[in-house]
Amino acid sequence: MILIASSNGAVGMEAGWAILQAGGSALDAVEAATRPVEANPDDHSVGYGGYPNVLGEVELDASIMDGTTLQAGAVGALRGFRHPISVARQVLEELPHVMLVGDGAAGFAAELGMQPENLLTPPAEAAWRAGLDGRLPEEFRHAQGQIMERMLARATRLATDPERVAGTVNFIAQDAAGRPASAVSTSGWAWKYPGRLGDSPIIGAGNYADDRYGAAACTGWGELAIRAGTARSVVMYLQHGYALEDACRAAFHDLGALGLPPEHCLMSMVALDRHGQHCAISTIPGRTYVYQSSGMAAPAELPRLIVPVTGS
Ligand code: ASP
Repeated sequence: MILIASSNGAVGMEAGWAILQAGGSALDAVEAATRPVEANPDDHSVGYGGYPNVLGEVELDASIMDGTTLQAGAVGALRGFRHPISVARQVLEELPHVMLVGDGAAGFAAELGMQPENLLTPPAEAAWRAGLDGRLPEEFRHAQGQIMERMLARATRLATDPERVAGTVNFIAQDAAGRPASAVSTSGWAWKYPGRLGDSPIIGAGNYADDRYGAAACTGWGELAIRAGTARSVVMYLQHGYALEDACRAAFHDLGALGLPPEHCLMSMVALDRHGQHCAISTIPGRTYVYQSSGMAAPAELPRLIVPVTGS
């Protein structure tokens, strides 16, 4: 058994590990592990207290994948519900669909009996105001202070800065029966354009699990993982016989083809192969990840391999 996560997943490790230890499924474990992160108001990259879009609205993305059945559920741009991972799980369980977005996702959450609430906490709102102040010229705003609709694209370009305010949580588990599952949850880029989806809810981009080979989940600049199909690439490289670290490095190498300067290639990934080997890599120095496996009394934190993306 093993549970791995991006470092901000530390607050969810106990909940996920308890399920694995009790003989529960990897799918239940990754959902349960994600929920405390989504409820953590101090984590401004996920769930309640997440940083909002350019209009000050918190919009959440999440996905969950069962590596045994290859079933997946996802939600995008969900407003007003703090646990997008559980909405995603119910999409997987209850609907003949993989992804719901926006009002449809919120309607489904309400139908499930989840309680709507305001997710914008005072510190996140203050950071949002401070993030826009000084960056947006006065003529972008109505007299009442709101950003004009026709200025949203320019406002987003001026205000969003994934190097400064982004983040996501990743979990991958393998249960006692050897089944893997993966979960990803995020509030996405701070001050993003309303309705923007990142890689986190896109199966194959930010999240993928297949028990024949392994699983991978991403954090970082979501648009890059969407364009390169990064999580699925790792699993595909495993399928082609690459060792886990080589599979992760190859998926990073593919980002080089996107033609961005290396300093704009912000990407991190956690990955697990079918044998329970784990690996985490990042383009950003200093990043860590957490894991717990059978025989460990508590999670451990390890540095990630730092792998710069170079052109290919
Ligand atoms: N991947 C997330 C997104 O693009 C953000 C992040 O992980 O920093 O929405």
